[in-house]
Amino acid sequence: MAPNVDQYSRRITYLRISVTDRCNLRCTYCLPVKDLKLLDHADILSYEEILKVIQAATHVGIRKVRLTGGEPLVRRNFIDFLTSACRVPNLEDVSITTNGVLLKERAQEIFGAGVRRINVSLDTLNPTKYARITGRESFQDVWEGLQEAEAVGFSPIKVNVVAIRGLNDDEFLKFAELSVRRPYYVRFIEYMPIGHDTQWKPEKYISSDEIRSGLESYGPLHKVAPSAHDGPARRYRFESARGEIGFISALSRHFCHSCNRLRLTAGGKLRPCLFADDEVDVKTPLRDGCSQEDLKRLFQEAIARKPMEHHAGIAEGAECLRSMSAIGG
Ligand code: SAM
Repeated sequence: MAPNVDQYSRRITYLRISVTDRCNLRCTYCLPVKDLKLLDHADILSYEEILKVIQAATHVGIRKVRLTGGEPLVRRNFIDFLTSACRVPNLEDVSITTNGVLLKERAQEIFGAGVRRINVSLDTLNPTKYARITGRESFQDVWEGLQEAEAVGFSPIKVNVVAIRGLNDDEFLKFAELSVRRPYYVRFIEYMPIGHDTQWKPEKYISSDEIRSGLESYGPLHKVAPSAHDGPARRYRFESARGEIGFISALSRHFCHSCNRLRLTAGGKLRPCLFADDEVDVKTPLRDGCSQEDLKRLFQEAIARKPMEHHAGIAEGAECLRSMSAIGG
């Protein structure tokens, strides 16, 4: 069996890496309610360590890396690291997920480093509500960041919207309109129960089907044929739209059977499943001077430990302790 195929015949080709647990926003739904515990700087993997992990990952068949956080753009010297990551042999794609606050000033450099695909998280188009959700008055920065990303030439630009009842469900048609007017792929993400100490409640959850039927009052949604870089999003487009609409339905139609990913936390733990706290430590072996062969074995262990499916649910709530901010989204 190929080194990146797990016991359920899934081929693992994708690694999401949290480069920091720090963020310049304080999104209420992402952070723990009580205690925001941050790692000591010494416990965060250095860029050199992350590059070693990426190299080993390519040896087990990882071909795509997405850099996330925390907020990746707040980590010092991120662009130099990005440039190195984009040059790792056999890596076909490096992308980033950002809240967009620093995107306007960094878009050109990110593109120059070799990244072409970018995801920007934006849950509201209302600046006042944005400040309420994130604790920061940065809506305009994100908005200008999106336009700069477009001007620089990123494609696709995905706008990730976590759908939360009572928070942004009154704005879904505005996001629909955005996908028509601008070349953005607006993706509605089901609000997931991640971590025991968060604001998630079943009443706040909205299924993709409910969102989709609401959007049809805007106009018919046409299915878009899947392509090579597609993740779990089901893709649609409004008539004559410049962009698209996507639905990521981790609860209502979980995509565990086609899950192709592992995560690396900022603290150096390989996580086989977003929803489960089982983790393989790579930081300790790295700091004990382990070889690329050893790292490769740790990847194979993480791949072997991927569960068949997650057990989080609307009635069940979260199955893991750590919140999204601590894992890396
Ligand atoms: N700072 C970057 C950003 O804002 O995109 C990367 C990290 S952030 C944790 C990654 C994504 O996770 C964001 O789109 C955020 O909205 C999403 N997220 C956080 N908590 C979530 C939850 N409980 N359910 C679904 N998505 C969540």
